[in-house]
Amino acid sequence: MITLRSVLYILAFALFIYGLMGLTGPRTAVRGNAIAAAGMAVAVVATLLTPGLGNWGLIVLGLVLGTVIGVPAARRVKMTAMPQMVALFNGVGGGAVALTAWVEFRETTGFQGEPAFVPISTLFAAIVGSISFWGSLVAFGKLQEIVPGRPITVGRLQMPLNVLLLAGAIACAVAIGLGGTAELLVVAVLVLAGLAGIAVVLPIGGADMPVVVSLLNAFTGLSAAAAGLALGNTAMIVAGMLVGASGSILTDQMAKAMNRSIPSIVAGGFGGGAAEAPAATDGTVRSVSAADVAIQLVYAGQVIVVPGYGMAVAQAQHAVQDMAKLLADKGVSVDYAIHPVAGRMPGHMNVLLAEADVPYEQLKEMDEINDEFARADVALVIGANDVTNPAARTDPNSPIYGMPILNVDQAKAIVVLKRSMRAGFAGVDNPLYTDPKTTMLFGDAKASVREVVEELKAL
Ligand code: NDP
Repeated sequence: MITLRSVLYILAFALFIYGLMGLTGPRTAVRGNAIAAAGMAVAVVATLLTPGLGNWGLIVLGLVLGTVIGVPAARRVKMTAMPQMVALFNGVGGGAVALTAWVEFRETTGFQGEPAFVPISTLFAAIVGSISFWGSLVAFGKLQEIVPGRPITVGRLQMPLNVLLLAGAIACAVAIGLGGTAELLVVAVLVLAGLAGIAVVLPIGGADMPVVVSLLNAFTGLSAAAAGLALGNTAMIVAGMLVGASGSILTDQMAKAMNRSIPSIVAGGFGGGAAEAPAATDGTVRSVSAADVAIQLVYAGQVIVVPGYGMAVAQAQHAVQDMAKLLADKGVSVDYAIHPVAGRMPGHMNVLLAEADVPYEQLKEMDEINDEFARADVALVIGANDVTNPAARTDPNSPIYGMPILNVDQAKAIVVLKRSMRAGFAGVDNPLYTDPKTTMLFGDAKASVREVVEELKAL
């Protein structure tokens, strides 16, 4: 029978899918997000219409607590802290699924009399949800620098330990499947899977953390879909599969853009977080003033701006747009080269530059702009480092060898805006800075660009 609830669920799914479609382009992304959020609100209402739902006091308390904690946190979070926010929100999803599995175990007294798919999917959800919750908490800790970003491992025993913890969780799940009803068994499943999540993520370096967050996000989706199967809740199945599928695609794309394989990321050991890895560059570094940069830019026919994480930290995007407008008024052609993993999350640069009203036509993806660098008079690198590192192309010993990069070194002249000679996220030296064509304007990116703007106005 078609109920109001099922109609609302179908409406919610349609909104999820339509919203996701919006996220494929910067022009429609904000609307897509709002549409998907509306879909989730409809799904929540539909779930609240479930017959026989009790304990409204607790439900309202949960809704109020979630809103009071979630809304201000999401509104206040800085764009640069978004990956850890996503890790946290994603982790609590996995945790909620793990707790739901525990409740299901209790309500059915160890799945007595239930068809086989119920314990199988519930215990799968318990294991994956718990891994995702605890793994995401470690990822949050590393990104927030509460936990050291460097790989933390017990050495050669790490892999056997991971396997042992996971095998222990699966063994307890099998014991439940074979008729075990002791609550200690389900608690052991959750604890051992949680420890496995922690043990797998701790040895992964900070540089790979956003990819791990995306992977755990896909896991959370899968666990929610499995729990939905056990509970007969189509909303959880559909939303879980959408998260699982889109999270898997995103993880794959991020790994490709960094030239890493997902197994090598999970095996850990790469990257220690930017703060601990100051670079030592041997060659000569040429420092220039904002006035010199302004003159160089104004006499250029074509300028390619290369934004990176430092632009996000400095919140320099509005100043950069002011500078680009001034240059355009003086007849200089300005484009932006967007590397797929510039910043700290996919689409980071697109979001920032869209916020500063940079026309979308000027944002050029890496493949589209890479051949243009050789024709550009100036490549203006603003707070980008790893995504411009020529060692990725030329030095087989570099940890980032093979990562596709922007061909900044092929421009006729290169100007780099950053505060010091410190390394970027991957913690490796950048030979671009000692290239004879490169000059450096040291300082905070926003302050430096503002100075350049003032100089341009005076010219
Ligand atoms: P990087 O982290 O390589 O470099 C950023 C540079 O910005 C630093 O060298 C820093 O130098 C400079 N900087 C920091 N703050 C400021 C400031 N206030 N003003 C001026 N400069 C500043 O960034 P990229 O964008 O080039 O590369 C992104 C990195 O993140 C890659 O290694 C990528 O693999 C990784 N990553 C990205 C993901 C994504 O989805 N975008 C996901 C996973 C990883 P200094 O301290 O001297 O100022």
